[in-house]
Amino acid sequence: MIPVLAFTDRAFAASNAAMRTALQYQNTPLAEKSCSTCMQFMPGASAKALGGCKIMPGDTEISPTGYCTAWVKKT
Ligand code: SF4
Repeated sequence: MIPVLAFTDRAFAASNAAMRTALQYQNTPLAEKSCSTCMQFMPGASAKALGGCKIMPGDTEISPTGYCTAWVKKT
């Protein structure tokens, strides 16, 4: 429940390839599980815009319809 890494660098659009690989990130949801319903997601400018993820430092291209194995339901 506590973010592993609390710091981010969002100055440039980028993806965190190492973390994406480690957590098996994909751009599609897994059933009802998606980044938009995950407590780690940091939404972009709109509901469909790319955003960030609290546990993927520096990654600014997380899809609201993406998914990874660290998914935790937003409360
Ligand atoms: S599903 Fe994974 S990539 Fe998406 S917001 Fe949650 S922790 Fe981040």
